[in-house]
This record gives sequence, C-alpha cells and structure tokens, in this order.
Amino acid sequence: MKLPSILKTYCPYCRTHTEHDVKLEKKGKASSMRRGTRKYNEVKKGYVGSPRTPKKDVYKTGKRPLAILTCKTCKKKQQKAYPSRTKKKPEIK
Ligand SMILES: [Zn+2]
Repeated sequence: MKLPSILKTYCPYCRTHTEHDVKLEKKGKASSMRRGTRKYNEVKKGYVGSPRTPKKDVYKTGKRPLAILTCKTCKKKQQKAYPSRTKKKPEIK
C-alpha cells in the first residue's frame, strides 16, 4: 500500500482543508492496567491455565496502516487509521 507524502485534508484546529505531512507510525502497545486486562486477571485467579477457551490457530493476515498527519499551518497532529488491511508493508511515495 502506497500513501502520499502530502495530503490535503480537513484540520479540526484550523477548521478548513489544509496540507498535511504524512508519517507512518506503529500502533502503540496496550496498557497493562487497562480495564480489560484487570478484569481478565480477576477471572484467571485460582486457575493454573486459562479458564477461557484457548486461542484460535487462525490469525488475521495483514495490518491496517496508521498514519500521523501534521498540519503545515498550525503544526498540530492527528491520527488517520486506514480501514482496509494490507499484507504489503505500507510506504510513503
Ligand atoms: Zn491546522
């Protein structure tokens, strides 16, 4: 998947369409103290293995690229997640 290096899109801070610099970013690691993890640790208490059904053998192929857009006018950043999955490594033209 190829992404443009400059994208003209809406900036919520300027409230108009402005030019943005596109930079690819990896998705951050989920927090270990988030609600879902704390709840799962509570469920797991007292078990040797996992009390829930084991993980599937089939995993989703490909990843959804996450782009960081920087407004050229106000230098504010915003995230843009692409809805489709891609097997090829995303690159900027
Ligand atoms: Zn802006």
